[in-house]
Amino acid sequence: MTETEFDVVVIGGGAVGMACAYYLRCMDPACRVAVVERDPAYREASTPRASGGVRRLFARPENIALSNFGIPVFENFATLMAVDGEQPDIGFRRGGYLFIVPPAAVETLRRNFERQRAMGANVHFLTPAALGDKFPSMVVDDLGGAVHSPDDGWLDPHATLMALRRKAGALGASLVKGEAVGIEVAGGLVRRVRLADGAALAAGAVVNAAGAWAQRVCDMIGMKTPITPLRRFEHYFECEEPIEALPYLKDVNRLAFRPEGRGYSGGVPTLAEPRGFNLEADLDYFERVVWPALAHRFPQFERTRCKATLPGLYDQNDLDANPIIGPWSGHCENFYMAAGFSGHGLMHAPGTGRAIAELILRGRFETIDLTRLGWARIERGEPYAEEGIL
Ligand SMILES: Cc1cc2nc3c(=O)[nH]c(=O)nc-3n(C[C@H](O)[C@H](O)[C@H](O)COP(=O)(O)OP(=O)(O)OC[C@H]3O[C@@H](n4cnc5c(N)ncnc54)[C@H](O)[C@@H]3O)c2cc1C
Repeated sequence: MTETEFDVVVIGGGAVGMACAYYLRCMDPACRVAVVERDPAYREASTPRASGGVRRLFARPENIALSNFGIPVFENFATLMAVDGEQPDIGFRRGGYLFIVPPAAVETLRRNFERQRAMGANVHFLTPAALGDKFPSMVVDDLGGAVHSPDDGWLDPHATLMALRRKAGALGASLVKGEAVGIEVAGGLVRRVRLADGAALAAGAVVNAAGAWAQRVCDMIGMKTPITPLRRFEHYFECEEPIEALPYLKDVNRLAFRPEGRGYSGGVPTLAEPRGFNLEADLDYFERVVWPALAHRFPQFERTRCKATLPGLYDQNDLDANPIIGPWSGHCENFYMAAGFSGHGLMHAPGTGRAIAELILRGRFETIDLTRLGWARIERGEPYAEEGIL
């Protein structure tokens, strides 16, 4: 059996795990970091299957702050993630975000808008008439209002992950191919991560960045979380008739889509989906659920055609659809959670990586206080959920 010693072992090499490694190495080049990833081709991982949306349109200040931190990082990715002078292109497109709501949800939308604005986001409140002027193809009769954030947008998730991975490696993080199958705890602290091939990594701290598989890692130390795998589909579809340039659009019924190439990418995630590691594509879902929602909002989509359906897994936190970030307080202080993102993990990877690095290296949050996203609320069973559009 080979054993290697690390200050931090990160389990899971998706966007979140790689961002943790990146910030740990940036903040302390002496910190010995390993990222354990069982499949460096990322065949089932959520990151490459994501839609790539990045937005400041949230209700909770922590989520707005994570986006305020992360989006400028993505905008500067070419410089920040350059390796040997090679600058990655993550296709960041500042196409804007648009939340549209019926009259009953306008009050919540306006409250969130005020908070986003107070926190520095460039956001605009639109009446249905103003919305109709801006996007003449959109049916607005049944709407009460909208918020447009022109500085938000989308990026290429796979390119983003590859850039993070390459940079974390270049900064000196050890990228270990292997599956974590056990965690040894002694004296109330994690001590060692065991891999399927028999190797063991001694660890000063362990970060659980295993995404939809996070609960399986928690099982290794007897920790029960509400994080479950939730399947959702990303569809690529085209439209026969022209529509004006659209931002990333979302409504209260969870219709979410954006321009992609000659067409559009998006879907309608549902919480009614049974939880589990199901990566089968339901080829009727688009016709049944997504198409009616699209055609209702834009008559041009009456004649749309779905060309591809890609299933992926959310690491869904069934308590409140927000992540668990921070140590397993009161149980195992050097076991850190960075999972449960419920559909926001790519955009919040930089802020989470930074936060985890601060906790481990400095013992406290310095950039964004994420205390309310920590373990305590889970233990108390007190949800800290978003309000309005998810
Ligand atoms: C269809 C879809 C659309 C989405 N759209 C967006 C969006 O627009 N914007 C956004 O911000 N987010 C979006 N998300 C969510 C986003 O994809 C996730 O929140 C984010 O990618 C999570 O990153 P991660 O690194 O935690 O997980 P992952 O990318 O899943 O990485 C976890 C890794 O852990 C590895 N692993 C697991 N267990 C072990 C083990 N025991 N040992 C070793 N390795 C292990 C896995 O192989 C995997 O590679 C979307 C998700 C889906 C499915």
